[in-house]
Amino acid sequence: MQSFGLIHFFQTHIAPMEIVSDLGQMQDICMRARIDNQKIALVPTMGFFHEGHLSLMRWARLNADQVVVSVFVNPAQFGPGEDLDRYPRDLERDSSMARSLSIDFLFVPYAADLYPEGFDTWVETQKLSKFLCGQERPAHFRGVTTIVCKLFNLTMPRMAVFGRKDRQQLLIIKKMVRDLHMPVDIVGLPTIREHDGLAMSSRNAYLSPRQRKEAANVYKGLAMIRQEVLSGRTDRLELESLLGNYYRQNIPGAVIDYIQLVNAETLENASRADNNTFMAVALKLGRTRLIDNIELGQSTEDA
Ligand code: AMP
Repeated sequence: MQSFGLIHFFQTHIAPMEIVSDLGQMQDICMRARIDNQKIALVPTMGFFHEGHLSLMRWARLNADQVVVSVFVNPAQFGPGEDLDRYPRDLERDSSMARSLSIDFLFVPYAADLYPEGFDTWVETQKLSKFLCGQERPAHFRGVTTIVCKLFNLTMPRMAVFGRKDRQQLLIIKKMVRDLHMPVDIVGLPTIREHDGLAMSSRNAYLSPRQRKEAANVYKGLAMIRQEVLSGRTDRLELESLLGNYYRQNIPGAVIDYIQLVNAETLENASRADNNTFMAVALKLGRTRLIDNIELGQSTEDA
């Protein structure tokens, strides 16, 4: 790489961002970069960027030679009656944000190319995909692992960057990579939050001003639970019911999907909170489903 350092510098930092939709073209570009010994980082997204997405891109820019950001609202991870059709999209804004971070390639594939007629091959982690969000969204993680596997095959990254906000997704992808010997390092980065603590999410755009105000309590409740744990309260049932009561009082309009204290690796219920557990929640405010989680114990990274 050093031997053609200047060219490399121009390729990685000066060349304008390219928007690629064609699958074969993306694969050719990445294949050539791999042959040139360049480290590719992939940041998979569904677009409508916010600071959470940008934090992943910044990390990738700092740690890789070539950064590919994919923007694809993946139909396979939406269930019937979910928000596939109204999911927020703004490719023009996304591309100017990605360009401002010196991203090399914005990969914007078409659903018809990724899922042509007759498509019939799925990648699925059996156990982890059944817990937490998998209860309410049974086919969701199968859609996620399948698309991420396809994106890996198309972009051949050395590393792929995900957010810990979607902690179950991150665990499932790590498991898929381990189980299938995929040569990709999976990087999980902290949750980026609004000033009042609400985890940034493209879906926050759905919230009415009143719901948006209430939504801040999703994280406030989690932070309260973390304080309780730090002061010695660790029983799962007690903590879950404390949080349930907090939400019923402070987000009265919400329908709680789950509140669960789980083991950070297996996602099974933990009997007590400790360093290897996290509290995960999902709730619906009107038609908007919000998820969040917090690590418990002394050495938390996401507090
Ligand atoms: P999405 O576009 O919602 O599918 O998210 C794309 C990637 O960004 C996933 O790895 C998410 O976990 C990550 N992400 C989403 N929201 C946040 C956030 N608030 N902080 C950090 N990462 C996030």
